Amino acid sequence: MGDQVRNVIIVGSGPAGLTAAIYTGRANLQPLVIEGAQPGGQLMITTEVENFPGWPEGIQGPELMAKLREQAARFGAEFVTADVVEVDLRHRPFTVKTDSAAFRGQTVIVSTGATANLLDLPEVPKLMGRGVSACATCDGAFFRNQDIVVVGGGDSAMEEAGFLTRFARTVTIVHRRDELRASKIMGERVRQNPKIEFALSSTIERILGDQSGVTGVVLKSTKDGRTSELRCSGVFFAIGHTPNTALFKGQLGLDAKGYIKTRPGSSYTEVDGVFACGDVQDPTYRQAVTAAGSGCMAAIDAERWLEGHRG
Ligand code: NAP
Repeated sequence: MGDQVRNVIIVGSGPAGLTAAIYTGRANLQPLVIEGAQPGGQLMITTEVENFPGWPEGIQGPELMAKLREQAARFGAEFVTADVVEVDLRHRPFTVKTDSAAFRGQTVIVSTGATANLLDLPEVPKLMGRGVSACATCDGAFFRNQDIVVVGGGDSAMEEAGFLTRFARTVTIVHRRDELRASKIMGERVRQNPKIEFALSSTIERILGDQSGVTGVVLKSTKDGRTSELRCSGVFFAIGHTPNTALFKGQLGLDAKGYIKTRPGSSYTEVDGVFACGDVQDPTYRQAVTAAGSGCMAAIDAERWLEGHRG
């Protein structure tokens, strides 16, 4: 598998990468998907996806990803389950390396997604997995009948808070402004949930706890600086994401926040023959369906590019 020069190497296996694989597979380009050691992207740590078109009853994130992968495999996509550790996009064919193999491609489609942000507090690394988490789906069930804090005011925070009420006694949403960033419908749903409370205009100054777990947080008002203590045994972050672009620094053009720059209306990066799609290049929409749509664009761009560069 390693010796031949592939038409297309897709790095990443969320909705963007797998849609690119479906399209390039159907174009008979035999794409190679380097799917990561933990494939499937952020939907693997999501519960119900209610807004992906075609699933009127909703679908579980991992199930949706399994179906997309199956669909890509049906059209000839091959998969390598490993993380990419190095790329060389300076010379064509491009090289993409995992720990144990190197692959060469005429084109590369980058769809490495984004990762959850954490608050920069000294206790976070110590209490991670001991009550501090960035994944309600993974860890929510550990907090049955307990009090939980969710940090953030966006749709993710609303979604996580709602999900956590399945287990928790109370969920307090801590948000630094007095106005939510979340969409109206998601904000309303949360407001109507009797288990959810709000600590608006507040930030977390400290997380209290030790080896045996979290016991509370110290909140600080962003209006008057006053502090107060809130007892809880779980703290979940939902404060946005950082694009996974460390591999591409110095080789692909990135914006100030680290997102890959693409030519407007296309998936073209600054390197000819390298395309980007999904959350890694999208600071604005960041939806599964927009990621899938941009994966389709990258596949069509790569296909046309290959047509124009046939020896
Ligand atoms: P987001 O919309 O960027 O919201 C991040 C939230 O975290 C904001 O409220 C922000 O506060 C807060 N925040 C950021 N850094 C912080 C810090 N250092 N300390 C305290 N608070 C901080 O991110 P998101 O909620 O993850 O959503 C991302 C995208 O995915 C959005 O487009 C959203 O619509 C979409 N999404 C959709 C669904 C759905 O439709 N089902 C579900 C989840 C996400 P400020 O508001 O003050 O900036």
